[in-house]
Parts: sequence; C-alpha cells; structure tokens
Amino acid sequence: MTAIGLDVRAEVRTWIGANWDPDRPLLEWRTLLADSGWAAPSWPVECFGRGLSPEADAIVADELSQAGAVGVPVGVGIGLAAPTLLAHGSPELKARLLRRILTGEDMWCQLFSEPGSGSDLAGLTTRADRDGDEWIVSGQKVWNTSAHHAELGLLLARTNWDATKHEGITCFAIPMQQPGVEVRPLRQMNGHASFNEVFFDDARVPAANMIGEPGDGWRVAVTTLMYERRGAALQRPRFTAPDGRTVREAIAEADEYFATYSWYPQRAGRADLVIDAARAIGVAGDPLVRQKIASVVSLQRVNQWTAARAAAARTLGRPPGPEGSLAKLAASNLARAAYDTHASIASAQGMLSGPDSFLDGVVAEVLVSVPAVSIAGGTDEIQRNIIGERVLGLPKEPSVDRDVAFRTIARNTR
Ligand SMILES: Cc1cc2nc3c(=O)[nH]c(=O)nc-3n(C[C@H](O)[C@H](O)[C@H](O)COP(=O)(O)OP(=O)(O)OC[C@H]3O[C@@H](n4cnc5c(N)ncnc54)[C@H](O)[C@@H]3O)c2cc1C
Repeated sequence: MTAIGLDVRAEVRTWIGANWDPDRPLLEWRTLLADSGWAAPSWPVECFGRGLSPEADAIVADELSQAGAVGVPVGVGIGLAAPTLLAHGSPELKARLLRRILTGEDMWCQLFSEPGSGSDLAGLTTRADRDGDEWIVSGQKVWNTSAHHAELGLLLARTNWDATKHEGITCFAIPMQQPGVEVRPLRQMNGHASFNEVFFDDARVPAANMIGEPGDGWRVAVTTLMYERRGAALQRPRFTAPDGRTVREAIAEADEYFATYSWYPQRAGRADLVIDAARAIGVAGDPLVRQKIASVVSLQRVNQWTAARAAAARTLGRPPGPEGSLAKLAASNLARAAYDTHASIASAQGMLSGPDSFLDGVVAEVLVSVPAVSIAGGTDEIQRNIIGERVLGLPKEPSVDRDVAFRTIARNTR
C-alpha cells in the first residue's frame, strides 16, 4: 500500500472510532459521514469529498466494513448520477444534489431509453420546452429500472428540434414525485418487475436542474453511459455487525432497494453454480459437460482479471473509456456460456421453477434472465460498434440522419 493509503487508513480509522455510534438514526450517521468528507473521499473538497485519489474510496469502504459501520447507499444515484453531476453539473446543482445522494435521501433512476430510441438513443423524442424558470416535459420513456421508487430521474429530452439529433438534447435532474409523471411497472418473463414505463404529461423541471447547458445532453449522456458500462455489478452491501439502529435501518433500506435486483445474479449466468449443479445431478463425469464447464470457468477467470484491470485503472483515477464496452461484451459472453452449460446439465429439470425444484429454481431463473445482460446498458451489437470505431479505429457506422435538423428526419410519430 502507498504511504498515502496508510495515512488515509489511519486517519479514517480514528475518525470512525470517534464517530461511529451504532444507535444513531441512519440519516444522521450518513449526514455526519457526508459532512466529514469520508463518504466520498475522492470527490472534490467543495463537493463533500476530500480531493483524495480514488484509491481512498476503497480504503474507506474497507475500514467502514471492518468497524461494522454503514457506508453510502449503492445504486443509480452514486453509480451514475453522481459522476455525471460531478463532470457536468453547475456548482449550485452539485451542492444541492450530491449530498442527498450520499445520505440516501434521494434515490435516482435513469430516464434515457424510449420506445423508438434505445440503441439509437440520440433519436429520442421526449420534449422539454422552456417556460420561465422551468422546463415543461412531455413524452415517454421505457425500461427505467427503479423508477417506481426514485425521487429524481436523470432525464434526456429534446430541447431543440432544428439542431442535429445529437446537438438538440439536454439533460435534467427531474423530480419524479409530481402530478405530470406516471410510472407504470413492466412485468418481465422471469416474473420480476424491476423496470417501468414512465409517462410525462406537462411535467415540470426547474431550469436550475439542467445538467450542463442546453444542447449539451449528448456529451452528458456519454459520461453516464461510460460509467454504466464500466460499472461493477450492483452488489448488496454486506453488514458485518447487524446490531443497532443504524444497521437495522440500512438493512431495511437495502431489502427494499435490492428487491428490484434480486434476479441480477441469475442474469449474469450463475457461472459459480455450474460445478455444483453437475455434481448434484450426477453428470460431473460426462466429458461434454466437463468441456463446457472448463470453458465457462476459463471465461469467468478471464473476466475477473479484466475487471481487476478496470478496478486498477479506476484506482489510478483514469476516467472510463471504451474499454467498458469490452468488459460488458465479455460479461454477455460469459452469461450465455453459463446459460448453455446450465441447460445441458439440468436438461428438462432446468425448466422447473420454485423453491422445491432443482437448485431452488435458480437454473430456471437463469434461463429466462440471461437475455437481459446483452441488452441493458447498450446491446452487444452496439458495444461491438463502439469497439470497432473507438478501439480499432474502423470507419464510423454509415448514418443518413446525423447532420440534418432533427425536425426533418422521417420517423414514426406517436
Ligand atoms: C435489465 C435492463 C435494464 C434497463 N434499465 C434501463 C434504465 O434504467 N434506463 C434506461 O433508460 N434504459 C434501460 N434499459 C434499456 C436499454 O438501455 C435498451 O433496452 C437498450 O439500449 C436497447 O434498446 P432497445 O431495447 O430499444 O433495442 P433496439 O435499439 O430496438 O435494438 C433491437 C436490436 O437491433 C440491434 N441494433 C440496433 N441498432 C443497431 C446498430 N446500429 N448496429 C447493429 N445492431 C443494432 C440491437 O443490438 C438489438 O439486437 C434497460 C434494459 C434492460 C434489459
């Protein structure tokens, strides 16, 4: 560990020792943590951080965990909204919104995709029109994870129809709890309802909640997407000392938040279960099954090393780049290989769901959840385009609508 790392460890350990009281209300503890700068030590001092290197974030998280103390809430707020605000938000917006992300007062969702604009995100047609100190928003978003319990949404809306498709978009932090916003859950084929349709009917967003300038939305969105692709799997925090009011409240918060994501391990393919599954069903000696397992385990190891390289780059403070697309594609390949191996091992039993079926129905859930991994956060084909263009330097994908006023582009109208 670096000398800086040792200093940080010692300093935060002393601070936790002096301040952690397991019986404080959760909000009071998180407020103290945010105001001390230890909630996000790598953020700038003027943004509730300490201006330290990203290495400090991991050290502080480790010290909090060792002390049995609660850290910042995980989710779209800290993972996507915060880095987007830090990169593009006005000083006033950062001051107003970042602290509430750290304290858990605001949950966020991402309002990018639309029925006609997923891969072609820049073709979005949800509109925002300026009205004094506010913008009025109308349109529809879809596949918005956790929108049903979000206070704020990271919204992309079209604000200029005469600019090109990429230059007429603006990003906002829109309050979700208002009459003009309707959130409707979507039921997935695995039975969960983690994402939603979101309808805007003259919803209002204060002009001060604009992230970046009008027309900057595409640049802002690229930042969000790079963090999304690089993002580590959404992990429920582990509570090492589950006693006391603070931890009890944090467990309740995590239970509610992570209910939405309970199928995410299955969506990743559950490569960790293939060997146990083969043993349980008695096919661990089958040469074809063994080959498949070896291939899954190899892919898993390679992905772990790729993730470790990405984590090292993060620790060194490097901003995310197109390598996130490589990791995302690798995760899709692993999930599909694990899916295929689980299907070979479990055979017809893999179709049985519920707690009294093979591996408590986990294999059945894997089989209907894995397709999502190749879609969420940009499809495999889109990652290949990004890798082709930005890593391999291949010519850009042909486009007929990139350089003309968005208003003139032929598209389906609602
Ligand atoms: C689990 C999950 C969670 C999600 N959460 C959110 C969220 O919180 N917020 C949010 O805004 N969105 C979310 N999404 C939406 C996601 O970002 C979109 O589904 C994704 O970008 C694909 O868009 P689409 O569904 O419209 O598919 P389309 O863009 O219609 O794609 C259909 C097919 O065409 C292919 N294709 C499209 N364009 C090209 C091209 N140029 N070259 C080659 N092939 C192409 C695609 O690869 C795909 O196979 C989520 C999706 C999933 C599955």
